[in-house]
Amino acid sequence: MHSGSLSSSRTSDAAIDLLTGGSIVALTGAGLSTDSGIPDYRGPNSPARLPMTYQEFVSGPVARQRYWARSHIGWGRMKRAVPNPGHRALAALESAGAVRLLVTQNVDGLHEAAGSRAVCALHGRIADVVCLSCRSGTSRAALHERMGRLNPGFAETHAASDVRPDGDVELSDTTDFVVPECTSCGGVLKPDVVFFGENVPKDRVQRCFDAVDAATALLVAGSSLTVLSGFRFVRHAHKRGIPVVIVNRGPTRGDDLATVKLDLGTSDFLPELSDAWVAIGA
Ligand SMILES: [Zn+2]
Repeated sequence: MHSGSLSSSRTSDAAIDLLTGGSIVALTGAGLSTDSGIPDYRGPNSPARLPMTYQEFVSGPVARQRYWARSHIGWGRMKRAVPNPGHRALAALESAGAVRLLVTQNVDGLHEAAGSRAVCALHGRIADVVCLSCRSGTSRAALHERMGRLNPGFAETHAASDVRPDGDVELSDTTDFVVPECTSCGGVLKPDVVFFGENVPKDRVQRCFDAVDAATALLVAGSSLTVLSGFRFVRHAHKRGIPVVIVNRGPTRGDDLATVKLDLGTSDFLPELSDAWVAIGA
């Protein structure tokens, strides 16, 4: 049932009614982090552009030089981003027993930084690095230091302006950038995130489906659901008759499947929902 004819305060009440008292799965996207200064690829004011694909990344050293050089600059800023009221409200909702699993399409780690524990980072975390040969994992902070030592003055010289959701920035000349190799085996290092052209690991997807099956409602917050990796959970919930509430500025691919759709910012709605939970718990 579509609720487009209801006023926004009435739909907001309807959404809160559906979401309080049960056990919900929250699915979050880039729109949740825009208030932390991390831009959305597909938000209303974003230029149309795409991140590097997996196929491009593994195509050769030149592509990886371009990726890591831009990402090196972007990381310096991304690591300074802090959780906003939307992240904090979701953490409070988990503490109150409202959220059984938080599935996020974001790689920025801000849900964990806000205190959420039951988090499934669908696309991984930009703070983690993996070796494509020996699969050993390392931290991005350590790699950032190594890259800084291998490329003295690079970060200072390239004061780029345009940070993307994956911590990438625009840089024209990256041919001098030295890309570190795996310290264990000399293999190719990649951020441990799911690139475009890669699949989300099956066990991770199944964990989310299982949580949706056990949920009383699915709350989508700050995602246009353009990517199938998130949209499939909305389709699944709808098929199972589990109510779907979508809170997003602008249309989403799941609007026709939503029980209630709110055209609202997540920093506005989520604290309201959290307050409603605390009120019924008291
Ligand atoms: Zn290795």
